Amino acid sequence: MKPKISTIISVLAAALTLANCAQNPVTGNPNFVTMSEAQEVQTGQQEDAKVRKQYGVYDNPALQQYVNEVGQKLARNSHRPGLRYSFVVVDSPEINAFALPGGYIYITRGIMAYLNSEAELAGVLGHEIGHVTARHSVQQLSASTAANVGASLIGIFVPALRNQAGDTVVNLLGNVLLSGYGREHELEADRLGAQYLARSGYDPQAMLKVIGVLKNQELFDAEVAKSENRQPRAYHGLFSSHPDSDTRLRQTVAEAGKPASDATRLDQEEFLRRIDGMVFGDNPEQGVIRNDSFYHTGLGIAYAFPPGWRIRNFPDHVAATSPTNDALMDLRSAGPAQGTPAEVLRKMLRANAGSEIALTTINGLAAASTTVNMQGKPSRATVVFLGKQAYMIGGQARDAQVMQRVLTEINTSVASFRALGDAERKLAQPLTLKVMNASKDTTFAELARNSPLGKNAVSHLRLINGLYPTGEPLTGLSLKVIE
Ligand SMILES: [Zn+2]
Repeated sequence: MKPKISTIISVLAAALTLANCAQNPVTGNPNFVTMSEAQEVQTGQQEDAKVRKQYGVYDNPALQQYVNEVGQKLARNSHRPGLRYSFVVVDSPEINAFALPGGYIYITRGIMAYLNSEAELAGVLGHEIGHVTARHSVQQLSASTAANVGASLIGIFVPALRNQAGDTVVNLLGNVLLSGYGREHELEADRLGAQYLARSGYDPQAMLKVIGVLKNQELFDAEVAKSENRQPRAYHGLFSSHPDSDTRLRQTVAEAGKPASDATRLDQEEFLRRIDGMVFGDNPEQGVIRNDSFYHTGLGIAYAFPPGWRIRNFPDHVAATSPTNDALMDLRSAGPAQGTPAEVLRKMLRANAGSEIALTTINGLAAASTTVNMQGKPSRATVVFLGKQAYMIGGQARDAQVMQRVLTEINTSVASFRALGDAERKLAQPLTLKVMNASKDTTFAELARNSPLGKNAVSHLRLINGLYPTGEPLTGLSLKVIE
């Protein structure tokens, strides 16, 4: 999500004229803060509407209520119990949680899938509450310039935001958390979160578990990257200050003290029962990727990219790069199906109007294609009509030699464009998270055989179950699978 610079600046401008010394709610020390609590709440409220709109609120009232109850319990035991907190599960496959000033806290259904107890959920929420009670975003806003104003959203870890195919798209926090300042804030949020866990009867060690979950995401991505012959995602420096072996962090959690009651709550089964049936991965409204294919129920299209290419689904197009990163393909809307495919193609390739256009049909659909040079690179461009809509399929290689190598793959892929069939419509349904009981024969290898998670399914299932990288299911215990 991109920072909402304009609104925050206007709030800032108002705030800067009212600079005052306030007390830090956590330390009790005077704290140079330019924003009053009322302004802080107002900022949060304004941004809240946008976050809800941009991410969407996950449509599962029972789960929303559960997360809110856990959050409110922690908030009552925090340093700012008087704020009106809200806890919302947003409909995003990203692995993240974040807080706005004033007590607005969000957790993605994406990260929920990787947590394994209510205590871990409380750890995530407690960390975010810590950012609110220590007024981190307010301090950062006060100290900030327009350049790092995105800091009003404080994520659980520097969120190299990912799209559905797991790509780094936006870095929410800009540079703020890369500074030592941000790292101190993260550690403080962990410390406060651990305290709130203990005061609410949860085991504060759950905070270390949560950090382990995030750390394992990074290791898993490195493993997948290796199998896909690509660089691991650039996680920003936060993990280096956040390893679960970090002595300062362990100290911090130890200092949180013993839980209020003797019964340290983990509530594993309760948590799993609550997330049973939750949507996992892509939201089908934006199209889903299954193995090498792309299905979009709304548009009614199905398309197969060359096997092994890395597919990324963006809001307005879907693209794939070759394993060796020297060729790419791209499928996007080319507007209404007006005139003939050749006319639309010619219009889209203005600069190359002289190219020879071949008329053809693809799975019974009218189409036109041509070979062109785009930005100095050999390319194939095809326009195909389906219903009232025209689609453009592009294939491009780094140079002529590469094109010669991948041309058959590109042509085969182009020829796969088709109207979504009834059987495929089923494939385009969302994946769901199911909780099952492990029998004595259950292994991750066996579960992976029928899993829609693809070639990294064994590791992915371990990751989801907190058993990465080498664990196996324990007989009789609950286990999350993806169907
Ligand atoms: Zn944080």
